[in-house]
Amino acid sequence: MIKANDPSRKSWIEIPADSDFSIQNLPFGIFSIGEGPKKVGVAIGDIVLDLSVLYDLGFLSLERYSHHHFEAEYLNDLMKLGKKVISQLRNEVSFLLSTDCDDLKLSTKHNILLHKQDAITMHMPVKVGDYTDFYSSEDHARNVGTMFRDPDNALLPNWKHIPVGYHGRSSSIIISGQEIHRPKGQMKPKDATEPNFGPCKLLDFELEMAFITFEGKPMGQSISTTEADDHIFGMLLFNDWSARDIQTWEYVPLGPFLAKNFASSVSPWIVTMDALEPFKVAGPLQDPKVFQYLEYNGNKNIDIKLEVAIKPEKAEETIVSKSNYQHMYWNYAQQLAHHTINGCNVNVGDMMASGTISGPTPESYGSMLELSWRGTKPIKMNDGTERKFISDYDTVVMRGYAEKEGIRVGFGEVSAKVLPAI
Ligand code: CA
Repeated sequence: MIKANDPSRKSWIEIPADSDFSIQNLPFGIFSIGEGPKKVGVAIGDIVLDLSVLYDLGFLSLERYSHHHFEAEYLNDLMKLGKKVISQLRNEVSFLLSTDCDDLKLSTKHNILLHKQDAITMHMPVKVGDYTDFYSSEDHARNVGTMFRDPDNALLPNWKHIPVGYHGRSSSIIISGQEIHRPKGQMKPKDATEPNFGPCKLLDFELEMAFITFEGKPMGQSISTTEADDHIFGMLLFNDWSARDIQTWEYVPLGPFLAKNFASSVSPWIVTMDALEPFKVAGPLQDPKVFQYLEYNGNKNIDIKLEVAIKPEKAEETIVSKSNYQHMYWNYAQQLAHHTINGCNVNVGDMMASGTISGPTPESYGSMLELSWRGTKPIKMNDGTERKFISDYDTVVMRGYAEKEGIRVGFGEVSAKVLPAI
């Protein structure tokens, strides 16, 4: 077992029982205090541990680290050290924070080592190089196919052979808390003869998880499903904002474009694949049989409970969806294997999103498109209003955590408020 995952390990830091950030988690992020520099932090309970100070004070043993790995705009330089080093770093931090070790506990420098999370600012954890979005939940693909094409042939013929995806845009991936403006664009309502231009009317979220890669292999080579975990740093929550009316008009024949690239919001803490290891579960039976390069051994789905809430400007939030990352038909290892099977090279900091994660029941659908069934079944909100899609000044919040035998490993949340079109 990975030492840092030991369920019996306890921390000398007091951790609230329902905290996402147990000592078995220890996710990485980038934070700053006031106007101070950006630094690498690790979350535990309500606290963030400043790794740059931890390094400067000599607590970290490995010689390959230097100060620039920990006082950094992004995690990318640290990630370049690779899987083994990051695993060792997490193990070291875990030991220092555990009741098995007094060194950090007895330090007189807690005022510069440890900060309350509500006193810091979180930033984009990685400089995203390339961003890819998959389409790997069968229930989501079926729902969309049923609504827009043919209920009897909801899945396109390639869907169960290929983890379908497209290349997105990294420049508009933003950190949780950053507001977005309703996008403008061309739309053509079903009954209209000509397209019109204006603010999107059918603004939607997509409940997704994304994984972030370490260095891949040289161009021309492929990463197998067995090797996938060694090339993935960790995961975060991903809200793939979508303009449904713009999408419907523009997507033929080359797929998603301006309906998708105006914004995607991510949660600030990257939960490592090591921390998620205990929560892996079996995936669905894949029928028809997949090509050999998509076959995999062991469990590659992960039991991560997910929820989406909409909070109107002046009212409490309403939970509108409860789903689970384990509903994926194509798992992350198959996605990465497929992405590289043609020799496409991935780099440190590439981000690959799962696609909307819908479950089999209507409460578990991962977009308003499905929850309101294309606007035909409005969602009742706690404040008495209704939503078919997202209104101006709504804040959409996504949360996720894995939990087993009293050990919780969570992601915190990704949240963003929608402002009117500019
Ligand atoms: Ca998506």
